[in-house]
Parts: sequence; structure tokens; C-alpha cells
Amino acid sequence: MTTWFNETLYPGFRQSHAIKKVLFEGKSKYQKVKLFESGHFGRILTLDGVVQCTESDEYVYHEMLTHLPIMAHGKVQSVLIVGGGDGGILEEVLKHKSVKRVTMVEIDDMVIKVAKKYLPKICGKAFEDKRTNLIVGDGAKWVAETNERYDLIIVDRPDPIGPATVLFSKAFYRNCQRVMKPGAILVAQNGVPHMQGPELTDAVKLFQQIWAHSGTYLAVVPTYVCGFMSLTWASDNDITDVDPRKVFQRFARANLKGLNYYNPELHFGAFALPNFVARLLPAPKKKAAAKRKTR
Ligand code: SAM
Repeated sequence: MTTWFNETLYPGFRQSHAIKKVLFEGKSKYQKVKLFESGHFGRILTLDGVVQCTESDEYVYHEMLTHLPIMAHGKVQSVLIVGGGDGGILEEVLKHKSVKRVTMVEIDDMVIKVAKKYLPKICGKAFEDKRTNLIVGDGAKWVAETNERYDLIIVDRPDPIGPATVLFSKAFYRNCQRVMKPGAILVAQNGVPHMQGPELTDAVKLFQQIWAHSGTYLAVVPTYVCGFMSLTWASDNDITDVDPRKVFQRFARANLKGLNYYNPELHFGAFALPNFVARLLPAPKKKAAAKRKTR
């Protein structure tokens, strides 16, 4: 008799995964953590009943939230990851030899421990890398207090539930800007536009109040059901205006082995938005007065 994990992230709709074997189930100070062997997508990590990542398709989100901004920026050396407890983003960031140090601030130690034990296919040895500075704490508090400065901030957050709610606030974004070096980029996951449109609109509205440029790009993650996944970005440079030849040269130089999703062609394609997504974005700010530096 098959038992099923039912994800009911959206009212009136649910997706189910057959549970072959529960490998971990617990409740931390912050959330319910469950990890199981599924019927089709390998091991699946869920938090408070919502799918966070699966062995079978995690590469889409982790590659697109990491390699696109690093290739757009061109000289990323210091990175901050907020959230990201499964280690997937950390593992992708560390593939870049240019990266000298990655600070990762994850609020829930239970997620880290579960990832290290059960998700080696996602985090590999990333937590043990000598460039990794792992902090167990609230990412919002970290950006409000740290003296570190970053070329890239990756907000690998869940949906705006529980401890993650603060990671969608204007105060959090303002503090992110505070710790960003000139020309730095912030990227964040912003849900599935077909089901969470207002989340995307609200995020870009707040970004526009803080940075000169912002927007979204898209990826298709099979287990983030209902279509495209929106990945939002903000910077004082327009990252959609980078010379394609530079991205292709940077990609060749980075010599990233075994990627399953990101490539320079898709880098530019990801910014092409279907009308229903483009309509969710507030009108772009007047062209920023600041002279645009193309790197
Ligand atoms: N990387 C996954 C994916 O592929 O979509 C999902 C995101 S990751 C599991 C989200 C992480 O953010 C969780 O581990 C959660 O504990 C963490 N988190 C939530 N609120 C946080 C906060 N305020 N500060 C730091 N981490 C937080």
C-alpha cells in the first residue's frame, strides 16, 4: 500500500509524492523537517510540508540562482548565502575558483545536519570547504550587523512562512544593500508566478525603492509545480545589459564541469518573460541617472 506525501502549498491544489522510505522526520525550533526517499524524484527535503529540493531536479534552481549572477558580475570573490540549509547553492558557488570566501547564514541547524547526512548528492563536501564560513543564525540579523561586504548575496529562502517571512521585508533588503560592494548583485527565489504572482510584484516593487535596477529571470523546476519559477535580481548595474561576448568568455574561463541546466545561451534566454509574467512586474524605474558601467 503506497503512502503519499501531499504538498498543499496552494489552496485548492496539491501535489503528491509516493513515499518509499522516510529517512528523517523531526521538529526544530523553527519548522517541521521531513526527508524521504520518493517514488520518482530521489530524496526529497520538505519544510513545514513544502518541497524544498529533490535530488532529481535541484540542479535547475541551484545552478540558475548561482551561475547566472556570477557570470553577469564577472569578478565575484565574496558571497553571502542567506538560508540554503541543504547546501545546494553553497556547492554551486564553490565551483568558482574566483570565489575566495562564502558566508552562509542558515537559521536551522537541523536542516544542515539532515543535508550533510542524507543529501550528499546535493551538498557534496561544500560544508567542509575551507572557503566556507557557516553561521547558524537569522540572515536578517546578520545583514543588519555584519562588517563583511559582498559581491553577491543569494537569498535561498523558502516561501514567506515562519522564520522566512522577514527575508521578504524592506528592512532586510535595505540591510542587504548596506553590505553589498559597488556593482554587487542580490538574487532571491520568488515563487511560481502562475500561483504566487503578487509575491513577485511585491518583491520587485521593494527592490525598485532600493536599487537602480531590478527584475526577474525564469527557470523551470519540475517539482516547483505550476510552471516557471521566478528568480528575482537587484543591483546598481543593469545585469541584463552585459555584453554577451563577456559572458561566453567568463563561462569558458570558469570551466564549470557537469552543469545540467545553466549555459550562456540560456543565461540570456532566461530574461525573456512571457506576457503574464511581464505584466506582474511594476513599470521599470526611469533609466538610472548613474552612468552604467559595462564590465
Ligand atoms: N535550496 C532549496 C531549494 O532548492 O529551493 C530551498 C531553500 S532552503 C531549504 C531554505 C532555507 O532557509 C531553510 O533551510 C530555512 O531553514 C532557511 N531560513 C528560513 N528563514 C531563515 C532566516 N530568517 N535566516 C536564515 N535562514 C532561514
